[in-house]
Amino acid sequence: GGHALTLHRFPLEQKNRSLQAWDAADEYLIDYVQEHHNQALRILVLNDSFGALTCALKAIGGNQRHIINVNDSFVSQQACKYNLEENQLEQNTVSYLDSLSEYPHDVDLVIIKVPKNAGFLAYQLALLSRLPSSIKVVAGGKAKEIHTSTLKSFSHFLSEPTTSLAVKKARLIFSETTAKPVISKFPVSWPLEKTDFTLTNHANVFSRDSLDIGARFFMNYLPQGKKPLKVIDLGCGNGVIGLMTLCKMPHAELTFVDESAMAVASAKANVLDNLPDALERCRFMQNDCLSDFTPGSADLVLCNPPFHQAQAITDHIAWQMFVQAKQVLKKGGELRIIGNRHLDYQEKLNRLFGNCKVIGNNKKFTVLSTIRRG
Ligand code: SAM
Repeated sequence: GGHALTLHRFPLEQKNRSLQAWDAADEYLIDYVQEHHNQALRILVLNDSFGALTCALKAIGGNQRHIINVNDSFVSQQACKYNLEENQLEQNTVSYLDSLSEYPHDVDLVIIKVPKNAGFLAYQLALLSRLPSSIKVVAGGKAKEIHTSTLKSFSHFLSEPTTSLAVKKARLIFSETTAKPVISKFPVSWPLEKTDFTLTNHANVFSRDSLDIGARFFMNYLPQGKKPLKVIDLGCGNGVIGLMTLCKMPHAELTFVDESAMAVASAKANVLDNLPDALERCRFMQNDCLSDFTPGSADLVLCNPPFHQAQAITDHIAWQMFVQAKQVLKKGGELRIIGNRHLDYQEKLNRLFGNCKVIGNNKKFTVLSTIRRG
């Protein structure tokens, strides 16, 4: 509606710059709010990928409008701040909450970008069910990703929903709070095979309901020893790799890092519950890969890298992880990773480090070790 915004996807330096920072569901949500709720002053926005919703709602709502932006993703939050800045939008009235926080009760409207993860949506709807009654909730997503089960989830936690027509393959869901708190089943816990451990997993954690098959294979190739090494579990998810490393390396200092707030919280809970004595040699950080780490400070980086972001299949995050691991490793330090064989990380690591050894292999996965020489 007359407000041209320039929006960037994060991280900025990725190869495929043609990927957009917004989609048809964002456009539909923005048009709908402008037409039907333009008087809303305090809007709770859930899961805004790169800040498109927050920027547009600020652009059309002006300085009196307050946006409370809830995101599990550190990268999405950074992208939102960057895009607000780039578009010279006022930022004092935009606040950020992580995905595990309770929601403020004094909002006029709730906007949800429907996440792909149905459990995570249920977790968020459960938090919304604790708000006072009659707050309008408008959700948007790809029509093909809004299932009967999605609508059932809305009616379970909020009022019976209605839906819009599909526009450009996007659809909206309309519902409202009813002030009847409903509890979700999250976090979920399960025993970790071949150990006495129980892993707790918050709703939006990677491989939440069972051990990832890559992680299972990687567990057979973790280093061990008594040296007091500085080790990083990069993209830690529920922390399973770092947790097992704490057992195999009783004097290592472990840093667990992930861009997902729920991953970091799960990893922390898993050390606390299963190896409380190891807590003092652990740090937990939400970060974009290793962006805020001191160069030349780590002996070992362990990584089971991600292969998609905001629904696009891409390996730019894996590449960013490898590049930053090289910077953060000491001379002689090691990066040890697991990957799908077809991704050919071996070639990438050889190019970057000048060496790469296969230390484990099966039909699907390969475990690779590379040393920072220079
Ligand atoms: N280490 C866990 C395991 O083996 O089960 C999780 C591995 S999962 C394949 C990759 C992890 O990388 C996810 O937890 C994801 O949240 C995280 N991740 C994705 N992008 C990231 C980024 N930019 N910075 C840090 N972590 C990221």
